[in-house]
Amino acid sequence: MKTLDPSSQNTQAFNTEALSLGQAQQLIGQCVEDLLQHRSLRTERIPLEEAFGRTLAEDITSGVDVPAHTNSAMDGFAFRMPPKTNTEPTNMRYKLVGESLAGKPFTKAVAHDECIKIMTGALLPLELDTVAPFESVMIDPLGERTNKLTWGQWIDMDGTRFKAGDNRRLAGEDIPKGARVLLQGQRLHAACMGLMASLGVAQVKVQALLKVAIFSTGDELQRPGESLKPGMIFDSNRYTLKGLLQGLGCEVIDLGIAADEPLALKHMLKEAAKVCDVIITSGGVSDGDADHTKAMMQDMGEVFFWKIAMRPGRPLAFGKIGSSLLFGLPGNPVAVMVTFLSLVRPALLHMMKRQEDPAFDIATLTALCEEPIRKKPGRTEFQRGLTRRNANGQLCVRLSGHQGSGILSSMVQADCLIVLEHERPDIKAQETVTLWPLPRLI
Ligand code: AMP
Ligand code: MG
Repeated sequence: MKTLDPSSQNTQAFNTEALSLGQAQQLIGQCVEDLLQHRSLRTERIPLEEAFGRTLAEDITSGVDVPAHTNSAMDGFAFRMPPKTNTEPTNMRYKLVGESLAGKPFTKAVAHDECIKIMTGALLPLELDTVAPFESVMIDPLGERTNKLTWGQWIDMDGTRFKAGDNRRLAGEDIPKGARVLLQGQRLHAACMGLMASLGVAQVKVQALLKVAIFSTGDELQRPGESLKPGMIFDSNRYTLKGLLQGLGCEVIDLGIAADEPLALKHMLKEAAKVCDVIITSGGVSDGDADHTKAMMQDMGEVFFWKIAMRPGRPLAFGKIGSSLLFGLPGNPVAVMVTFLSLVRPALLHMMKRQEDPAFDIATLTALCEEPIRKKPGRTEFQRGLTRRNANGQLCVRLSGHQGSGILSSMVQADCLIVLEHERPDIKAQETVTLWPLPRLI
């Protein structure tokens, strides 16, 4: 096995032959690791309101108990359970002396034979330890019991139905003061946002947004909104890429379209490298007459490889200009998406320090393939698929229409990518295949 160190003498060897997808992923991973060793990631402190989707750059420790005070888990009557005796209490009587509402606590002392009306979340006075839900205390069988209460009336309770501590939430039982509740590297999703707010956190240190420049290459490309000239097509890759990048929480710098002209490309790459952590282009990485991207990347920086044994996505130039990583993706729209998901996405998440994020590894599924699929051993192939459950509840998958690498409509119809591993030959109907579910990835 050759070393995949991008800085080693052996790198040249990979320039002549196609890497397996696994080797390419490994090499990119090493490159990112190397890059992160040599430059410290920027962090910033921002208001909590703006932190959704960002990556935490500090551990969050609770400065308070959650809940902050012992409170009631139910609407009902709060009382003190009498001490345990040999003869268990059966009927208990308490005089109703007041009420505790959420945000409006009962502040007077409560004697051992007194109770208060209490609502969910309201502070439980120190002297009391148990809450009897309204529905367990039959004081008005017509159901209007809680409205007709008067202070001083006696409330009867069946002592066998409760034990001390019932329906009580203790201060700090969710999070005790001093507990570490979030670790750096965590993506701040909706539950994290709520959790930090519940601790009173107003400012949070996060990784600076990863800046990613994108541009499309091709003399045939026009912008949506323009009238299409003969032989031209609309540029779709920039829109796909922008969506994929925004989904990961990157800052996207959209540089538009570059002509198939070496100087135009050089200028665009130079501008992008000045301001961005990562540059992603599409098109112009094959060996055709108009394919200049790879040559310009080599001219201005380094290209570590440009052929991968995968379909779609065989031509893909990976390299660096200065300290910016460069992905020259193929031009075909489906190849753009497949190479992004399999190679660019893990690199970006790694750069964003999100290796510990549960979303880092794609959550694969396995399914029965309902139809035969032709597959060449010696390359990883991706097909677009549609899943369903059969009568036995098993997950099954079939192809979602035309599979050409330019056909985006079947990518829209698909709910998964079927991943056919490197060494695998033709797939027979009813064989098991691996799936990447698409909804959470795109
Ligand atoms: P290339 O690798 O540049 O030869 O492109 C391969 C195919 O993808 C060609 O049919 C291109 O027209 C098409 N293509 C390249 N870039 C784009 C783009 N930005 N949007 C849509 N199709 C594209
Ligand atoms: Mg082109």
